[in-house]
Amino acid sequence: MAHRIHSSWLTLFSMMAFAFINLCSGAPNPHQREMLKRQEASRQTGGSVTLTPRELQLSAYLHKLKVKEMASVPFPPSMHYFKARPFIQQSAIFKLLRKMPKGAALHVHSSVLASAEWLVRNVTYRPHCYICFAWGGSVRFLFSDGQPYPRWECLYWQLLESLRAGMANPDEFDNSLVRNLTLFTEDPEAAYPSQESVWARFDDAFLAISGLVTYAPVFRDYLYQSLEEFYGDNVMYLEIRSGLSKTYELDGSIHDKVWSLKAYQDVSAKFSAEHPDFLGIRIILSSHRIQSVSMIKAAVMDAIEMQKNFPELIAGFDLVGREDDGRPLWYFREALSLPADLGVNLPYYFHAGETDLEGTDVDANLLDALLFNSSRIGHGYALPHHPLVKELSRKKGVAVEVCPISNQVLKLVSDMRNHPAAVLMTEGHPVVISSDDPTLFGTSGLSYDFYEAFVGIGGLSANLGTLKELAMNSIKYSSLSPVLKKALLDMWQKKWDKFISDQCQ
Ligand SMILES: [Zn+2]
Repeated sequence: MAHRIHSSWLTLFSMMAFAFINLCSGAPNPHQREMLKRQEASRQTGGSVTLTPRELQLSAYLHKLKVKEMASVPFPPSMHYFKARPFIQQSAIFKLLRKMPKGAALHVHSSVLASAEWLVRNVTYRPHCYICFAWGGSVRFLFSDGQPYPRWECLYWQLLESLRAGMANPDEFDNSLVRNLTLFTEDPEAAYPSQESVWARFDDAFLAISGLVTYAPVFRDYLYQSLEEFYGDNVMYLEIRSGLSKTYELDGSIHDKVWSLKAYQDVSAKFSAEHPDFLGIRIILSSHRIQSVSMIKAAVMDAIEMQKNFPELIAGFDLVGREDDGRPLWYFREALSLPADLGVNLPYYFHAGETDLEGTDVDANLLDALLFNSSRIGHGYALPHHPLVKELSRKKGVAVEVCPISNQVLKLVSDMRNHPAAVLMTEGHPVVISSDDPTLFGTSGLSYDFYEAFVGIGGLSANLGTLKELAMNSIKYSSLSPVLKKALLDMWQKKWDKFISDQCQ
């Protein structure tokens, strides 16, 4: 209610200001100019957040740092993240963002959460790990208690332990493996001249990683390590999109999806027990949009069943994969209408608008996501091109999950200052910041994406209020029940207060 009163006052002020402008002629009035500036600032993300004296002090400090950073050459948000990373790591703002309690990560994918370094230096050193050098210079991994059979792209598997033993420089070899599991390269413009080329590498890196993380014992450790990395970045809760790939044992036996769900549940519970200020995880079941209608129908029915059996764990359903290559949401309307037809509630969290193909069928995904009552929109990169859809999503409180580095690496935007989320943020549209695929981009947790959003997208307008609202949004727009949202918000507030007092000493 307080918020409503606040916004109606703002509307009134705004009407008065405009009326005043119309009445005025001649030179602009500096007081009125100031008032209009303040009024516009109040509309942005965090613009109506009231800051305490200590918070104002920190905000002023951040402003000073940002002025300096924006005048520096090179300016990291104007560069490709792969080149900007060392500069970001030295940034005083970034160091502060690392310590800031960021709330929840609402847009991340299950097999690309933890660092590629850990996968190589830990997982590939485990016994029975085989490698094969596939066509096109990529690698595949498999754990097996005997020599694996050849596959169509992998004719010869080598035991990594023996391979390394014969190497003069295993460290250099490990570095090359890390490069295989990420998109990271020193010259991204040359390596990825088009969206197609970067998506091809993206899909290939997923395949390379999958042999490691779907090995059942690794699956659990990998999730634990991922939570460790996010927790280390001051993230307290994750909503993870997962296709529930089948996991396997050394003898080749396969576990079903229920095994994976139980593993998610167990590992999350164990981690929360050991870290009481970590709330846990929920899973958004996801299927690839390249599939047929009948396959998506089966996946939706499956999701309904799993949600019934794991109501605390399953948050909902999504379609993943490159939108430009896949089928639009409308193509799957029969499958996606199933829950409504059956009278059950399966929340949707659709990727939509991760495209620059204005006016295509794929571009209609944003509207269709809302027509299917999506609870949030993944990416929504194209949203500012659709004023009506934007209005609808605002009215319905459907937050956009903005993943700046993902959009840049996948070649939708090059300079972060031109990211369309700038429009959403200046209007105070509901947004959250997330990191999509940290393993592939060489990020960790959420801080790098927060940096790009705060310094690049938000520019000098973004202040501590912006950061505070972004963190609180991640709780407000999560799939958690009202009771758990309240619990998480209380936990976050405690950490936030401590963060503020630590900085202001
Ligand atoms: Zn995604």
